[in-house]
Amino acid sequence: MGTQKSIVLVTVDCLRADHVGFMGYDRPTTPFLDSLAGESFVFPAAIVAGAPTYYSFPAILASRYPLALGRDVLGLGPDEPALASVLKQAGYATASFGAANPYLSSRFGYEKGFDTFRDFLEDEREPTSHEKANALASNRWASRLKRKLHKVGAGLGPMGILYDELYFEYCQRVTPVADSLDALRRFPAADVVVHRACTWLSSIGDAPFFLWLHLMDPHTPYYPREAALELLGHEPVTPYRARYLNSYWNRSDLGPRRFARHRDEVIALYDAGIRWGDAQMAQLVETLRGLSLWNNCIFAFTADHGEEFLDHGGRYHPPSRLMEELIRVPLLLRVPGSVKQEVTKSPFSMLHLAPTLLDAAQLSAPKSFQGRSYWEQLRQGESFDGLAISECVAGCTNPYRPENRIGPRVLSVRESRFKLILHFDPAAEDLYDLEADPGEQAPLATTAQNAVRRRLLEIAREHLSRSIEGRDWRTRVQVRLRELRLEWKNPADKASPVAS
Ligand SMILES: [Zn+2]
Repeated sequence: MGTQKSIVLVTVDCLRADHVGFMGYDRPTTPFLDSLAGESFVFPAAIVAGAPTYYSFPAILASRYPLALGRDVLGLGPDEPALASVLKQAGYATASFGAANPYLSSRFGYEKGFDTFRDFLEDEREPTSHEKANALASNRWASRLKRKLHKVGAGLGPMGILYDELYFEYCQRVTPVADSLDALRRFPAADVVVHRACTWLSSIGDAPFFLWLHLMDPHTPYYPREAALELLGHEPVTPYRARYLNSYWNRSDLGPRRFARHRDEVIALYDAGIRWGDAQMAQLVETLRGLSLWNNCIFAFTADHGEEFLDHGGRYHPPSRLMEELIRVPLLLRVPGSVKQEVTKSPFSMLHLAPTLLDAAQLSAPKSFQGRSYWEQLRQGESFDGLAISECVAGCTNPYRPENRIGPRVLSVRESRFKLILHFDPAAEDLYDLEADPGEQAPLATTAQNAVRRRLLEIAREHLSRSIEGRDWRTRVQVRLRELRLEWKNPADKASPVAS
């Protein structure tokens, strides 16, 4: 075996930092990773550069702010160096296995540099007649529900709520349901993805390799493997109940108080998704050990963004606010041959992950990377005073429509203690003191901490002017062409928001 270290990068969609054991969660979602944490760097405040998926990954894989090339550039630029292309050039075998997130497909440039790129999207099959009937029935009850509720709900006060709950449950009952959670799941479960990865690992001999896995188990709709609930020590959830919870959670006509009554049950399904990912990590590492690859393998486990569970009234992970539950993710980094050190509490922007990984493998980062390596500080256990900027386009929940991408920007600047969130339309700035108010319950008064406010605003201003300088028309036109080519080939998927 060569001395060049291999790299495994695992990203889990929608995994918020406070739902893994090694970040202090009290439910046993990640026993395997917790055991690995004993020999790994664990980052107390890893912050994504944007959310959701499409505003996060340019930083993770190409160390670049998501809006730096312009809002109309989604994904990686056509000539943009990224981890895979750099490592391939350095002689690595490269492979990616991703659980069918459409925003991480070749349409957005993510296949570049990978010898093997499986995104499982081609596995999408025609719906069966049972599923078609299901969808039809659920559309029918939805409009029936709406009409009925409109008529009776409003005038009934608390009785109206009861009526609504009963009627919703009735509609769920008359819709045919699948016989297992597996039949309801939209994305391949982690075991499917990891199995493919292990097969690939067995085929590459002793070349250094880069493996990127993207798991979707905690992503909505929340249909975990039944075995995962059991591993979590949770009672079984019937397909009927799971579908009821997902449909309820997806309603657009309710306020937070009504959602709150099912919140814990929904979270249990989400947590089971995390638990399944953890079990598959154990499988992956066992395979790496069996192939004698583990001792020479850098292992990074992280997420593209978090998930909201009514923390601030919201659900899922829309690009609207950049609160901690959305931008703070777990980051565990195991580098063989180094001694575990405590990582400073300062924010670590995911912009720095790719250069840090390359440095830990003794490779240098391309000039286009906007982040820098923190490997020396980590290795020496030195504290660093970091800063993390996150950005997204407000309301862009379907970037398949280019007109959806040009809304106002939301920007946050986060230090260890203070965090400034800027909304551009309508203009607003909220300053939070995360030490006094870690849950971001209330922004500070507009007159408080003026020096801090000024400092963070100045950082935001510099960031914005850099990102305007960085735009180049050639890249934007090339990206637009890439997308158009695919739309011509496949006109049906222009308007299909599937995941994020
Ligand atoms: Zn995502």
